[in-house]
Amino acid sequence: MERKTHQKQSILNALYALSGTHPTAENVYEHVSLLIPTISRATVYRVLNQFAGQGTVLQLHVPDSGDHYDGNTEPHLHLLCGSCKRVTDISVPGFNPLELAQAESSGCRITGFELLFLGLCPDCAAE
Ligand SMILES: [Zn+2]
Ligand SMILES: [Zn+2]
Repeated sequence: MERKTHQKQSILNALYALSGTHPTAENVYEHVSLLIPTISRATVYRVLNQFAGQGTVLQLHVPDSGDHYDGNTEPHLHLLCGSCKRVTDISVPGFNPLELAQAESSGCRITGFELLFLGLCPDCAAE
């Protein structure tokens, strides 16, 4: 396999392996560098940005901790835990922010959303 293709595939695999944890670029780099010790941090960051631009992965902008990535590109909702700072998927049945926003009437064309609920993840909430 061509080297670049191989690197990209490994980065994508790392995202799927870390799926559910919403890794930062740094987390992905740590994972991939175990498999490809020669890969540079800059490459991982660049490829992740590319993937995000293409819609191959979701990019979440998290206050104070930078960008997190999600291999699950189905529209879904996130919660930022105020205690452990993890980003968790949450499901709110029947709540579709995109649909709600598209019904608004200001003339804007809405194509996506970025929404981060704040609270405690199940582990921290149980403490
Ligand atoms: Zn937590
Ligand atoms: Zn997610």
